[in-house]
Amino acid sequence: MIGAGRYRTHAAAGAAEAVGEAVRVSGWVHRRRDHGGVIFIDLRDRSGIVQLVFHPEQAPEAHAAAERLHLEDVICVDGQVVRRSEETINPRIPTGEVEVAVSAMERLAETEPVPFSVEDESTEPSEELRLTYRYIDMRRPRRLAALELRARVVRAMRRVLDDDGFLEVETPVLTRSTPEGARDFLVPSRLSQGEWYALPQSPQLFKQLLMVGGLERYYQIARCFRDEDLRADRQPEFTQLDVEASFVEPQDIEDLTERVLVACFAEAGIEIPTPFPRMGYAEAMRRFGSDRPDLRFGMEIQDWTDAAGRTDFAVFKGVVDGGGVVRGLVVPGAGEGVSRKDGDELMAEAQALGAKGLVWAIVQDDGTLRSPVAKFLDGLAADFGAAPGDLITLVADDEQVASEVLGTLRNRFAERWGLIPEGMWAPLWVEDFPLVGWNADEKRWDALHHPFTAPHPDDIDLIATDPGSVRSLAYDVVLNGLEIGGGSIRIHDQAVQKAVFACIGLGADEAEDRFGFLLKALRLGAPPHGGIALGLDRLVMLLAGERSIRDVIAFPKTATGADPLTGAPAGVDDTQLRELAVRSTAPSPEEREK
Ligand code: ASP
Repeated sequence: MIGAGRYRTHAAAGAAEAVGEAVRVSGWVHRRRDHGGVIFIDLRDRSGIVQLVFHPEQAPEAHAAAERLHLEDVICVDGQVVRRSEETINPRIPTGEVEVAVSAMERLAETEPVPFSVEDESTEPSEELRLTYRYIDMRRPRRLAALELRARVVRAMRRVLDDDGFLEVETPVLTRSTPEGARDFLVPSRLSQGEWYALPQSPQLFKQLLMVGGLERYYQIARCFRDEDLRADRQPEFTQLDVEASFVEPQDIEDLTERVLVACFAEAGIEIPTPFPRMGYAEAMRRFGSDRPDLRFGMEIQDWTDAAGRTDFAVFKGVVDGGGVVRGLVVPGAGEGVSRKDGDELMAEAQALGAKGLVWAIVQDDGTLRSPVAKFLDGLAADFGAAPGDLITLVADDEQVASEVLGTLRNRFAERWGLIPEGMWAPLWVEDFPLVGWNADEKRWDALHHPFTAPHPDDIDLIATDPGSVRSLAYDVVLNGLEIGGGSIRIHDQAVQKAVFACIGLGADEAEDRFGFLLKALRLGAPPHGGIALGLDRLVMLLAGERSIRDVIAFPKTATGADPLTGAPAGVDDTQLRELAVRSTAPSPEEREK
């Protein structure tokens, strides 16, 4: 054992197997009880907790020293492991049947009062405080458990991939922009003033070049950097398992990914069945209003367009005549107690999501509907298979808006009305994505995955004529409504690559300027290849049962991208800026005050 001899013969948890032995253990003072005589201290190290007993008569010196200990002091003790008496056994901890009768103690570090309790996990300090003192926070068993799980998950990934002949390769962090659709973090070059490195949004182009280089099977636990507004649960730097292989089809990557995920889940004691179900993008949008459907519950989106078109309700008729749709959801058992005011709030919620409005109805005991527009909803309950007590919501809009709004409401309603089963895991593959999507703001087509994704071989001719209908060879792996990974078969033919660049508005010159190195590589013997990336942070979050990825990252950033521990990001010296030939136009702190 590391540190054996000078600091320890056993880890705290190891004491349980050392009854009768003389031991030396080191760690933190986790808890302290002084009964005016014998002093009990719970000693904590990474392995767990063991109780120390200081007897005033048997070890007066150690006992006197123990009187002066504070919580979280670091100590080293010698003693003998003894069985506890029957009444003092603590069944809640693995070492609960033993204790260490201390003969000598050395204090290795005396601590100031800590900013929050390590021992009492029932009180949760503010996140700001926890992140400022992350090194205290991670002493708490729950944080430690998340980091341990994370390490085991990474080990499991490596195990599966190593066994399959994958080679772990590092790719540069100082590089050129890789377009994954986010903003780059830039690093000024001192040696070539006026030029900039970009931090990689992913190792995408390098892993493709590794395939051209004949490596055939690559993986990396890769750090990626995306300068996005940190809405929801994002981090400016995050980790992904990045994989690429040559001579593969989607099925090969999907099978491999499932084996990796099964091994990762096993680390959390969870069994997931394979193969994962597969669903096309169009079907996912139609049935669930999302390209990452949560399959832990039903509540599928249903279509009522035809019937709605036959009603006398002007709102429905207008939408249907204009080519739109009327679709809805049944929320089982949610109708009870829904007042007119609640209904108005549902309407406002749908409007905030972009819908023109929302119609709500409650199925009453006699099967009739209670709704402000009940008279137009004849037959709706039967058509939707709704039962007394159910809430029905309808959205009339163009197809995309209706789908997306209902998709969001579906998730929210399931959560709000407690319809998501506990402890259930619902993975699936979503496939057959469109290659590009229309960017209405910029009036151009954008790659839906990234511009290196291969179009479906049957659709290649449509790239020039009807880009919106081209399918891609991309696939996403989704778990409980969260995308945990995505990848694709790549373009390995430079003519196709050029056509896709042209389609997304990247002119020949610009394409050559930014991606000439890739186009050249594709002309020099590029094998067919494809891969995937799995988001490690989110995966571990799900497996650990945490709600934020910040809880499974050792030193995460806050929602504004700041690190309260180190104070990053921070200003730099003018000298440093001069060396880089960079001048800041940001207002000085004094100017900002004004
Ligand atoms: N580079 C992609 C990403 O980071 C994943 C892939 O296509 O393999 O999302």
